[in-house]
Amino acid sequence: MVASTLVGMLCAHLLCFSGMFLLISRRLPGNRMGMDFFAVGNLLLALAYILQLVEGGPAWSLMSVVNHILTLAAPIAYWLGAMRFFGRQVPLWRPLMAFAVVYGIAQLLVQWNAGPAARYAMLAAMATLLFFAMTLTVIYGVRTFAKDLHGEMIFFALLISGICVLNALKFMKIVEGGLDALHMDSRFQMIFYIYMSTLATIVPPSIVWLVLRRLTDSLRNMAARDPMTDLLNRRGLTDAMQLHFNNRHAAPAYLLLLDVDHFKLINDTYGHQAGDEVLCRIADLLRATVRRGDLTGRIGGEEFVAVFLETDGDGVMGLAERLRASVESQAIKVAGAGDLLRCTVTIGISPPFHGAHALDDALRQADTALYRGKAEGRNRIEVAQIPRSISAGATKPALANL
Ligand code: GH3
Ligand code: MG
Ligand code: MG
Repeated sequence: MVASTLVGMLCAHLLCFSGMFLLISRRLPGNRMGMDFFAVGNLLLALAYILQLVEGGPAWSLMSVVNHILTLAAPIAYWLGAMRFFGRQVPLWRPLMAFAVVYGIAQLLVQWNAGPAARYAMLAAMATLLFFAMTLTVIYGVRTFAKDLHGEMIFFALLISGICVLNALKFMKIVEGGLDALHMDSRFQMIFYIYMSTLATIVPPSIVWLVLRRLTDSLRNMAARDPMTDLLNRRGLTDAMQLHFNNRHAAPAYLLLLDVDHFKLINDTYGHQAGDEVLCRIADLLRATVRRGDLTGRIGGEEFVAVFLETDGDGVMGLAERLRASVESQAIKVAGAGDLLRCTVTIGISPPFHGAHALDDALRQADTALYRGKAEGRNRIEVAQIPRSISAGATKPALANL
């Protein structure tokens, strides 16, 4: 009686959250972060438990065969849903149907050749293997595809390994004691149902939390980045610098402002699309030039910014020269243009500054230097408040006295 109540509650949970996953999935674009698959998984598991309630104890019937298929199809649906959540385009119904056919046949063969206990043992063994593989995948994810969800992945690995252990114990009990071990009111089954009920309560809100985290992260990313080049926009730069300067011991930063020379000519000659491709290529070069931890951004049409956080004046000068030279030497292939395009950039460098509030000043100073570079012939690096300049290939001046 207690076991039936527990299983009944478990079904109610699974069905409610199945509906909730479905509603959430309808609000999500693209692959719906796998929420529709999770809805199906919950539904299949609820149906499996409903069949178990109707069936009572272990039996050989069509209902029982379907029950076993549903019991394993549910975690497969969860697994596929998780793959979707992490961006893999996997189908749902084809793998589930294929599994249902194969596992249905396997049950018939085992039932006829080895008897009913073997069929139930096979279910427990299959569930053990499935949840073991899931646990390993989640642990692997902590180091690879889900690095940003470190804590959550470990939490899921613990929960899933719990089901794995319980199914392994169930398998051993069936092997030792036959089908009696599966009586609904047995102590072991009670523990099993209590654990599953706990999971049915904890896991769905955890999945909703994952979706919420991914959504808020992508919203924050959208607000902080330029969609064309994926570099930071002005807001993203300010936020990242605030984060950097929150550390009391943060070194002063240098700002480098880069403007493409005669960019309008590229647009006018090859078209706006070609211009966009040139901008993306320059963004790639900028990203490749800076060091890990430095910031890169696009703050205007063809104006880019790099903020060097952990280097001195000489280092900044070296990086600026490397960037200028790499743009100059780069032959850019763009769609629709027969020739490879070449372009140059002029760079202005700010004095060292401290604090995110100084960004505007640093930008202004770098801008003044930049326009001096434009006036003096372009393809140059100019340093704010320093009268001398270097032209392409000239000896690099130091910034130490800024
Ligand atoms: P200068 O050497 O003095 O910098 O000359 P310029 O032609 O690069 O300078 P100007 O500021 O006159 O031209 C910038 C051009 O950039 C004008 C605008 O049409 C173009 N532009 C701005 N944003 C974009 C964009 O997102 N894509 C493309 N393709 N062009 C853009
Ligand atoms: Mg320009
Ligand atoms: Mg410009």
